[in-house]
Amino acid sequence: MIDLKQYEIWFVTGSQHLYGPKTLETVAEHSKEIAAALGASAHVPTQVVFKPVLTTPDAIRDLCLEANSTKACVGLVTWMHTFSPAKMWIAGLSLLKKPFLHLHTQYGREIPWATIDMDFMNLNQSAHGDREFGFISSRMRLNRKVVVGHWGDNETQREIGVWVRAACAWADAQGMKIARFGDNMRDVAVTEGDKVSAQIRLGYDVYGYGVGDLVKFVNEASDAEVDKLIQTYMDEYDVAAELRPGSAKHSSLRDGARTEIGLRNFLTAGNFKAFTDTFEDLHGLVQLPGLAAQRLMRDGYGFGAEGDWKTSALVRAMKVMNVGQTGGVSFMEDYTYHFSATGDKVLGAHMLEICESIAVGKPKLEVHPLSIGGKADPVRLVFDSQRGVGVCASIMDMGGRYRLVANVVDVLPTDEPLPKLPVARALWLPRPNLKVAAATWIFAGGAHHTGFSYSVTPEHLRDFAEIAGIEFLLIDENTKVDEFKDKLRWNDLYYHLNNGL
Ligand code: MN
Repeated sequence: MIDLKQYEIWFVTGSQHLYGPKTLETVAEHSKEIAAALGASAHVPTQVVFKPVLTTPDAIRDLCLEANSTKACVGLVTWMHTFSPAKMWIAGLSLLKKPFLHLHTQYGREIPWATIDMDFMNLNQSAHGDREFGFISSRMRLNRKVVVGHWGDNETQREIGVWVRAACAWADAQGMKIARFGDNMRDVAVTEGDKVSAQIRLGYDVYGYGVGDLVKFVNEASDAEVDKLIQTYMDEYDVAAELRPGSAKHSSLRDGARTEIGLRNFLTAGNFKAFTDTFEDLHGLVQLPGLAAQRLMRDGYGFGAEGDWKTSALVRAMKVMNVGQTGGVSFMEDYTYHFSATGDKVLGAHMLEICESIAVGKPKLEVHPLSIGGKADPVRLVFDSQRGVGVCASIMDMGGRYRLVANVVDVLPTDEPLPKLPVARALWLPRPNLKVAAATWIFAGGAHHTGFSYSVTPEHLRDFAEIAGIEFLLIDENTKVDEFKDKLRWNDLYYHLNNGL
């Protein structure tokens, strides 16, 4: 459902007229070659568009305005092949509303020792031309990513690709509609927030609905549609015997299918990319949407439980960043601890809504009581999660600003089977250990709800936060509690000053 090929990165080269037309022609040829190489790179998921070499303030300003108004353009990669006096860039950069990455590279990989002369030196001077551009970007305090390295190198292209994914998630969030069925879970603090400031800062818009609005769509699902979806479930999952057609609890599965159809149709009709619900507010729904939320997440929708629209938006952003990568992305919650001699672990899960994109093996489709919410037993997918390095990320409204915190975790198999646990789950060792990870997370005010992924990395999240202009905090193998607390205090000051009035 998410197509990153609809997006473009513009490859923009700066120069000036000092060197004559011949040099500028060569600069353009080199830039075309680099743009084509980035466009062909497996790391870069979008189109890469070469733009004519910029040599005047007017051309730079026009290019920036054109980027702003071109929907498909999600960001610029800038490079100064020669020296491009940076006062020329002030007007354009002042107006630029799209993210940019400063690529500090050079056309030729090595110095041609035997033939190098001043013509070569004048053509290949990004070593200082890019520093001039860096100065004006820093002088204007512009958020951007700087990538250093030869453009043909795998690592250079990888770093660019990570940023491009973050830029796509940013573009996707601008004007994104999130559907919120019901309100916040009563009295919960961290899932609340200022939706107006979220729209100003992060670009998305949260639309509130009564559950009755959704129920109308659920009731409109036809028996034929339900039959077809039941067949899909039978094909894709290990369906519990009691849920199969003709069995005792098959009606629960039909209710689940009807909910999925209604929810999907509602989201499609309103052009929503993400949604929330809450078990406290299910008027007219037979069961809490478990299976439906799981399958919609799999298809790229953001989701947050208990009215958590910030996490829903974050899960969607991570889904966008993850397109075409192998690991999954899910809504997640730190649920229960395992303090043990082999390391203190976290059992992550939720009441129902974990995305099957992180599952290992074929999920089981089962029905069990929910024990809260006072509704019929909801159907849900039950599975263990893939092993490997993952990340949990959480976004909080700190009052006037946003904070994104991430923790790197190592997902392990469970110590023993969990035959009585009727929900999908993941077991992990947080880095550097639970003692430090949980303490720093708590000092940061990190939420219990997170976006979880194996292939969206802290680097993606950092780039996203940089584009958004929000705080990013990483908890990993290098984290120390005291240093982390200092960072929190310094950042409070920085963001307070940076926000101004
Ligand atoms: Mn929850």
